[in-house]
Amino acid sequence: MDAVVVGSGPNGLAAAVELARNGRSVVVLEAEDTVGGGTRSGELNLPGFIHDLGSAIHPLGYASPFFSTLPLKEHGLEWVHPPAPLAHPFDGGRAAVLERSVEETGKTLGPDAGAYRSLMRPITRDFDRIIDSILGPPRPPRHPLALARFGLRAVRSARGLAESLFEGEEARGLFAGNAAHSFLPMEQGPSAAFGLVLGTLGHAAGWPFPRGGSQKIADALVSYLRSLGGEVHAGVRVRSVEEVPRARSVLFDVTPRQLLEIAGQHFPARYQSALGRYRYGPGVFKVDFALDGPIPWEAEGCMRAGTVHVGGTLEEISAGEAAVSRGDHPERPFVLLAQQSLFDASRAPEGKHTVWAYCHVPNGSGFDMTERIEQQIERFAPGFRDRILAKTTMGPADLQRINANHIGGDINGGLLDFRQLFARPAARFTPYSTPAPGLYICSSSTPPGGGVHGMCGYFAARAALATTLR
Ligand SMILES: Cc1cc2nc3c(=O)[nH]c(=O)nc-3n(C[C@H](O)[C@H](O)[C@H](O)COP(=O)(O)OP(=O)(O)OC[C@H]3O[C@@H](n4cnc5c(N)ncnc54)[C@H](O)[C@@H]3O)c2cc1C
Repeated sequence: MDAVVVGSGPNGLAAAVELARNGRSVVVLEAEDTVGGGTRSGELNLPGFIHDLGSAIHPLGYASPFFSTLPLKEHGLEWVHPPAPLAHPFDGGRAAVLERSVEETGKTLGPDAGAYRSLMRPITRDFDRIIDSILGPPRPPRHPLALARFGLRAVRSARGLAESLFEGEEARGLFAGNAAHSFLPMEQGPSAAFGLVLGTLGHAAGWPFPRGGSQKIADALVSYLRSLGGEVHAGVRVRSVEEVPRARSVLFDVTPRQLLEIAGQHFPARYQSALGRYRYGPGVFKVDFALDGPIPWEAEGCMRAGTVHVGGTLEEISAGEAAVSRGDHPERPFVLLAQQSLFDASRAPEGKHTVWAYCHVPNGSGFDMTERIEQQIERFAPGFRDRILAKTTMGPADLQRINANHIGGDINGGLLDFRQLFARPAARFTPYSTPAPGLYICSSSTPPGGGVHGMCGYFAARAALATTLR
C-alpha cells in the first residue's frame, strides 16, 4: 500500500483524495464511528432536528482552492447561500449587515460607509490574487503588491485597525466580530487578519453552508475518494504507529500532542521537544438549540443572515476575549451563532428551527456558559427563550471526547498567533514532513491552520508525493 491516513477530518480526507487522484493506493483510519472529524452533523436532542456538531458555516470550504477542483457536487454537496452572510446586532434594534455587496454593507454602517468601502473594495478586488497566499504555506507570493496591500493591515491588532479607520459602533463591532474568530485578544496582532479575511470572503465568495448539514462535506469527500479506489475504515483508533498497516507513507490528521504519543519514539529529541512546546488556544463552549420558531431578532437584518455575531460593541467583544485569554469566563461572552434552518428546510420539521451557538472559554474549562449564551441572545431577541424546545451543551471535555484533536476544547488545532501561524507545528522548511522519513502531519496544526478548507491535507499530500511517494 502507498499511504495510510490516520483521521478523517476534512484535512485527512483532502490528503487521501489528493493521493488517490494521483494514482496512489490509500486507506483512511478513523477513530470515531462517523467520518468527518470537525465537520459532522446529526440529531442531538429531538428527532428530525439536524445539528452541526462542529463546523457550520464554510466561507473557507467554499473558496478553498483545493475543494474547488473536486467534483463534490456530483458526490452530493450542495451549497446554500443565505441572502446575507452575516448580521451583527446592537442594543436598540440596530444591526450591521455584511452583505455580498461592499456598498450595501456600507449602508448599514452609519458614518463609516465611505471608510468601509475604501478598506474592503481593493482587498475584495484582489481576492483571487491573494487567496492562494492566505490558504497556503509560507512561500514567496505570486502577487506581492496585492499581498502587501492586505498584509500591512492584516498584521495589526483588530482594535488598532478598527479604531484607526472607523468612528461608529457598527463598523467597529462588525470588524471585531470577524476578528474574534482568531481566538486572540483584540489588542493582539494579527487578529486584524481574521477580520479582513472573513469580511472579504463575505463579499468575494459568500458564507455558505451545505444543504442537510456539514456532514455532507465529509460524505462527499469520502464518496469521491471511494470512486478513486480509496478505502475508509471508521471505528479504528490508532494508538501507536506500529499498529498502522505497512505503507510507504503515513499521514496523521492529528495535533502535535497526539503525534508525540503515537509516533514520538521515531523523532529526534529536538523535534520531540518542539512538538512538546506547541501551544493550544482557548476552548469552546457550544449549545445546540431546537426551537419551535425562528429567533425573534429585534433587528430585521438578522433574519436575512446565516450567521449572527452576538456580542455588541468592539469594547464588549474586546473585554470578553481579553477575559478568556486571562483564564476568566466573561459575563457577556461573544457568541457565534448560525441559523441554517431559516434557509435550509431539511434541518428541522416544518415551522421548527435549529440554532448552533458557541462562545470562547479558557482551554480545558469546565464552566457552564449556557445561561450567559442564552442571556446574550435574549438581549437582542426578546422572547428567544420561550421558543426553546430542547438544547444540548458541549464544553471542552465533551468536544475532546467526540474528537481527540480538540485538545482542551481548542477547535483550531493550536493557537493561531504570529509564531504558530507560520511555525506550525514546528519551524521547518516543509512543515508537513517530520524528521522521520515517510511520516507526515496533515491536520490544522499545519499551515494554513483551522477551518474546513482541506488545504493542510492537500499540501501534506503534495509533500508526500514529492518525496516518499514520488
Ligand atoms: C464547535 C466547532 C465549530 C466550528 N466551526 C467552524 C466553522 O463554522 N467553519 C469552519 O470552517 N471551521 C469550523 N470549525 C473548525 C473545523 O472543524 C476544523 O478546523 C477542521 O475540522 C480541522 O480539520 P482537521 O482535518 O485538521 O481535523 P479534525 O476535523 O479535527 O479531524 C481529525 C480526525 O482525526 C480523528 N483522529 C484523531 N486521533 C485519531 C487516532 N488516534 N486514530 C484515528 N483517528 C483519529 C478524529 O476522530 C477526527 O475525525 C469548527 C470546529 C468546531 C469543533
